[in-house]
Amino acid sequence: MLEKELATPLSILKKYYGYNSFRKNQQEIITALLQRNDSLCIMPTGGGKSICYQVPALLFEGITVVISPLISLMKDQVDTLNNIGVPAIYLNSTVSQAEQAHIMDDIKIGSYKLIYVSPERLDSPHFLHFLQQLPIDLIAVDEAHCISQWGHDFRPSYAKIGQLMQQLSPRPVIAAFTATATKTVAEDIKKGLRLHSPLDFISGYERENLAFSVVKTGNKKKYLLEFIQRLQGESGVIYTATRKDVEDLQLYLAKNGIEAVTYHGGMSEKVRNDHQERFIFDDEKIIIATNAFGMGIDKSNVRYVLHYQLPKSMEAYYQEAGRAGRDGEASECVLLFTSKDVQTQKYLIEQSTSLGERKDHEYLKLQAMVDYCHTTKCLQTFIVHYFGDEANKDCGKCSNCKSDLEEVDVTTEALKIFSCIVRMKERFGVTLIAQVLKGSNNKRIKDLGLTTLTTYGIMKEKTEKAISELTQLFIAEGYLTLTTGQYPTVKLTEKALAVLKNGEKVFQKIKPVKQEEPVHSELFEKLRELRKKIAETEKLPPYIIFSDVTLKEMCKYYPQTKAEMLEIKGVGEMKFEKYGDVFLTIISSFCQENNVTASAEPQKKQTEKAKDDPSYLTTLQLFREGKEISEISAIRGLKETTVEQHLIQAAVEGVELEWQRVLPNSYQQLIIEAKEAIGGEKLKPLKEALPEEISYFHIKLALCI
Ligand code: ADP
Ligand code: MG
Ligand code: ZN
Repeated sequence: MLEKELATPLSILKKYYGYNSFRKNQQEIITALLQRNDSLCIMPTGGGKSICYQVPALLFEGITVVISPLISLMKDQVDTLNNIGVPAIYLNSTVSQAEQAHIMDDIKIGSYKLIYVSPERLDSPHFLHFLQQLPIDLIAVDEAHCISQWGHDFRPSYAKIGQLMQQLSPRPVIAAFTATATKTVAEDIKKGLRLHSPLDFISGYERENLAFSVVKTGNKKKYLLEFIQRLQGESGVIYTATRKDVEDLQLYLAKNGIEAVTYHGGMSEKVRNDHQERFIFDDEKIIIATNAFGMGIDKSNVRYVLHYQLPKSMEAYYQEAGRAGRDGEASECVLLFTSKDVQTQKYLIEQSTSLGERKDHEYLKLQAMVDYCHTTKCLQTFIVHYFGDEANKDCGKCSNCKSDLEEVDVTTEALKIFSCIVRMKERFGVTLIAQVLKGSNNKRIKDLGLTTLTTYGIMKEKTEKAISELTQLFIAEGYLTLTTGQYPTVKLTEKALAVLKNGEKVFQKIKPVKQEEPVHSELFEKLRELRKKIAETEKLPPYIIFSDVTLKEMCKYYPQTKAEMLEIKGVGEMKFEKYGDVFLTIISSFCQENNVTASAEPQKKQTEKAKDDPSYLTTLQLFREGKEISEISAIRGLKETTVEQHLIQAAVEGVELEWQRVLPNSYQQLIIEAKEAIGGEKLKPLKEALPEEISYFHIKLALCI
């Protein structure tokens, strides 16, 4: 099976996982473990912790035991490993006694390289005795922060691991993995697990593929709806504060034709599990959940996590939001903020049973969360600082980095709204305030005698909706507060009084949060369908078959042969054997229909920028010297289509070339006209609408230029 003499961490990575290079710290951690150094590895969610202990597991003679806190996590990992040809198994409470005995026999004869166990399992003296008989090289403790009372998922059974491991002889190497560890938590882990002079590996907390935004909107529902419509077809999690909100939002989305499943503690376990499965298996794209959902969800293609309300701490927020984009693809994390949610969280702290010091601690954590919502700094930087780390640079894609709007002076509007509220004696809600300011003829306004107020109609140039939204924004910014209860009324805070009395100015950045539309090719949809079908027959979540990244690479490079397919990120030998052919078939028929060809060396292109790729530069050089495409192709021994690809690449990067040599102006004209008439997302209809002699190459080039 494993050719041990030849196997290196890198060859294992390539052969089993289909990846060509290690991510930050992976190689270092693997080396440390192979040299039998205990290690503490702090790596962000999606950073690739599993590979750090799975690769050594494949290189060690003996067995690796992975301690994992959740049944669903174990199952997911074991499925993933089996699917790439690694013999792994789990033992937890879902395994019957009889099965367990069977599995233990198999383990004894060396049938498995990795065994996943729940920490509770270790409590059994019988099980410990069993472990003592095994040749265990490595113990990997996943989600190691569960050992600390100061972490957010304290698990009493984790506390015993360290002491139990003392009883194994020879003592295996112990490696601890976590994504969120403050200094206190890190110390707790080292002490609790009794690590022997552990090496620290800290990859930082940055998640480069996540775009964070804080949105202060007067109309959360509308924002949510538009957001989901923009990301149509993508998988996402919506977190709400209460079970009731979960149900409400589902109804609201359903009314607007959007399907979603729900998840909260008030549902039966059966229904909950069913919903979770449907989400994981891509049967449902959206899950609306309370924070009961998520721990142990390794679904890698979650494209957004939207928090409908403020979470209680940055730790909780980053962990929940961090469930987006585990596969490293661009994903969004949106937090909808209003100051009313702060009140709710404070109320929850008051109601909780914690006392004194603990309560203060919770208030401090909440305050940090509120500061996150108000900061004008880079949000990713804020998070990284919060966890006690230095950020390299601002992320450039969060709502603060992207807000190019100047803060505008809205003092006049604020004064009008605030004084209207004073005149209305702070006894009414947002809608009525807006109606008065607008000068509405509403019967209720007349009945209440509000038409006589001096503020009646002083904002008639604005729509009622705009006035409401502005009012909500002032609520979000803490100038106004809402009372609790069924009909909340608006009251002024100190901050608003300072504006009214001391003439303080009010500035407001009004942030539109717009990110590029995700483009999904026809091919991507086809591959996604195929993946879904395979997943159904194999009863595995689709992302275990292939991740979104892998499908996207296929769409980018159109592999046509086994060798080309193996170059795709995420296609290892085992996976090629299982799925390679069916995917190749779909890709090649797509290529024939659309007249496209493969472009080589996907992984290499990813790491090296095309600009520095000598092959591409050579083509440009020859083109500049006046050579035709056919000549370049002959000189370089490349397919003409490859040469064309190089030219298109140049067009994308804005390189100045004599384009009319390959794209006559008349063609360009026709293509642009056709694009204006029928749109440019799909090439096929364009091609069909244009004269025969205009090729796909011409079209692509024209669109790029
Ligand atoms: P973590 O446990 O740190 O949250 P995982 O181990 O689940 O992260 O890995 C997240 C994703 O990243 C998985 O889909 C995994 O296959 C992928 N991944 C890990 N290491 C690499 C690598 N070196 N190259 C490409 N993808 C990787
Ligand atoms: Mg993990
Ligand atoms: Zn930023």
